[in-house]
Amino acid sequence: MTNSNQNTSKGVSVVSEAVCQQIMGRTEAFSAVENVFSAMAKNSAYNFPVIREAIGHADALYGFKSGFDRDGMVLGLKSGGYWPGNIQKDLTNHQSTVILFDPDTGKLRSLVGGNYLTAIRTAASSAVSIAHLARHDSKVLGLIGAGHQSTFQLRAALEQRDFEKVIAWNKEPENLTRLAVICDELSLPFESVSREVLCAQADVIITITSAFEALIDTNWIKPGTHIACMGTDTIGKQEVDANIFASARVFTDELAQSITLGEAQHAIKAGLINQADIIPIGEVINGTQIGRTSDDEITLFDGTGVGLQDLAVASVAAKLAEEQGLASYFNL
Ligand code: NAD
Repeated sequence: MTNSNQNTSKGVSVVSEAVCQQIMGRTEAFSAVENVFSAMAKNSAYNFPVIREAIGHADALYGFKSGFDRDGMVLGLKSGGYWPGNIQKDLTNHQSTVILFDPDTGKLRSLVGGNYLTAIRTAASSAVSIAHLARHDSKVLGLIGAGHQSTFQLRAALEQRDFEKVIAWNKEPENLTRLAVICDELSLPFESVSREVLCAQADVIITITSAFEALIDTNWIKPGTHIACMGTDTIGKQEVDANIFASARVFTDELAQSITLGEAQHAIKAGLINQADIIPIGEVINGTQIGRTSDDEITLFDGTGVGLQDLAVASVAAKLAEEQGLASYFNL
């Protein structure tokens, strides 16, 4: 197969953050992420080992996420990290750029701004989990966390079911306003609640925080809930009580990350579950594994965030920008 979905004749294409925001919507991100999860489960796509280093300057964490998707013919990496001082410079703390190569020749193909794409690919991941695992009659959406990612999570989740109400909790309650504004715009009731009330009412819960301790107790979760744990992407982070894993049906984007740096790391360490208990969501998408097995079952998606998601959305963004004349070009 050749990499026919990108323009080769004009040189290396450059797709800016602004163009990504203009052309990449939630629908495009959803299908790109769903397709790559499917390819991962078929062993047609795989992530390479992640590099992440404290560089000893500006308190920055810097690294690469990379991989190859043979189904989509996408090869490349996301380079970037976290610069805590950026906020004072009026810049986003998380900085990323996606670099795509031609899988047939290894030639550089595209440079794509990765900040906005990271947000929509992460939101697409939990949205894919809701689409495949949440009860179809889910009415109440609960969010734990109201940081930068949360608004993207909210909008993508709301498109998956006919939600009638949104409830949320955040460590700094004043930041919940950003979620309330979206609900107002969409004419959906919004309420700030305690974590316990959130669990008692929500049919779908998304956790998207940087917490290092459980924010949700197992006994609070009602039967039939779908939980998408999206914040835990590092060793030591945690959002839910590890005991939930023993009774829930558990899914993930990538097994290797889930058991080491994802939400499942704590349940694995405590011996509450083992690796074989965790189902790659791609297998549900491909129909080789059942998703939810009953209305009373608790389903949990451990969304750790993989490089192939970044490459998938960046590849679509590059293709759309090239087709619409919105990319610029240079030659090396
Ligand atoms: P942010 O810094 O804008 O917001 C952080 C959020 O975490 C806030 O709501 C804050 O109140 C909350 N928080 C921090 N410490 C907490 C604690 N001890 N207890 C409870 N809440 C706490 O970050 P963001 O960009 O919104 O990202 C949120 C998290 O998602 C980060 O941990 C980030 O690493 C992770 N993330 C995951 C993926 C993925 O693919 N899974 C992708 C991007 C970001």
